[in-house]
Amino acid sequence: MMGVFNSKVSSFNEAVRAQDAEAISDIGMELLRIGFDECVKPNVGTSLKETYRKQCLSAASYLAKNSRTPATPVRSSGAANEGTDPYYVPQQWFSDEVPDLGFKDIIGVQEVKDAFMVDVVAPLRPEFREIYRKFRGEQLGTQILLYGPPGTGKTHIVKCLAGALNCKIAVVQTSEVLASVVGVAEKNIRDIFAQAAELNRCIIFFDEIDSICSDRDSEDSRHTKSILTTLLTCMDGFMKTKREGQLRIIVAATNLPWKLDAALKRGGRFETQIYVPLPDGNAVRKFVGMQLDKLPHDENVTVDALAAKLEGYSGADIKAVMKQIANRPLEREVKNVLNKQIGRPMGERVTMQDCDEVIKKFINGVTPEMLLRFEAYNRGMPYEDLLSLLKKPKN
Ligand code: ADP
Repeated sequence: MMGVFNSKVSSFNEAVRAQDAEAISDIGMELLRIGFDECVKPNVGTSLKETYRKQCLSAASYLAKNSRTPATPVRSSGAANEGTDPYYVPQQWFSDEVPDLGFKDIIGVQEVKDAFMVDVVAPLRPEFREIYRKFRGEQLGTQILLYGPPGTGKTHIVKCLAGALNCKIAVVQTSEVLASVVGVAEKNIRDIFAQAAELNRCIIFFDEIDSICSDRDSEDSRHTKSILTTLLTCMDGFMKTKREGQLRIIVAATNLPWKLDAALKRGGRFETQIYVPLPDGNAVRKFVGMQLDKLPHDENVTVDALAAKLEGYSGADIKAVMKQIANRPLEREVKNVLNKQIGRPMGERVTMQDCDEVIKKFINGVTPEMLLRFEAYNRGMPYEDLLSLLKKPKN
């Protein structure tokens, strides 16, 4: 439904640009109807509901203002609108608390932890300062792009980094910012950097950064282009104005690195790219063990046996599978108590059949095609070339 809603937001923006009063009203009302419907659905997540709510508030505020006075054309970007823009809903981007997490909370991905150690943590330690000065000169700050299959912990890792460095963090869902009506996305981006500039240590994290890089000829490309330009300008300014002793880190994450606009990867921006892969065998065992150890289970349900079935799953998916597995004896136990009216548990346990049935139904969020695309990207070759290389008959 988000897709339909976003396309309504785009049409609404178009109508506002064109000052087509009839379309503004028709599309605006339709947009509100969809948004409000989604806000009360039990299966829609809190953060999505928040996006719908904000969009609806913005549109409603515009419609209300419009019905009293003739509409004022809305600019697609620029500071001139600030303060009077009827779409604008101010937001606090940074969490009040530093996440209570550290590197110890990251399972596996040792190479990612090492990369953060070399790029971010070590330069802050006095004993390394001379080495960094010698090889890198004065550092302006750090901008890192994390890429990899969904659910491999990219967001989690950045939160752990914030905890380890005692930094406040702004987690920005780029697609939500993008879904804003014209001009508001740019204003939100400027706000994020303005709020960050007030802090001595901070991390700005742009999740799904690929959503800001739409196809050039798509309907939304003008809108996204303007947002991308604002983002790049803010990033450059933010890093250049860093003062001695301040820690400014910008991290972006994507599942689709090949979609990113080249301007984002250019020198001085997200030059450091770190691949976050699927968990290896040891990490899968750790994910499984962490959950299984807490559950009553049959003797043949071992960490090794379950881990063997979950190779190729992301950390997020393994957690979800284990939760579903735990639910099965739980359901039986509750039914036992209800049906037999005995009022005490019957000692239900996780069986291998529970595990097999859950895993059989669970759709792995990471497909072989995705992995192949990452392989091609890591080798710096087009996906099609890798495919044809694999198809070539061996001599
Ligand atoms: P991504 O951003 O790559 O899509 P997330 O960070 O949203 O993945 O992962 C979702 C959840 O899965 C996290 O909150 C965390 O509980 C778990 N997870 C995934 N990978 C790891 C990991 N390597 N270490 C610890 N937890 C992980």
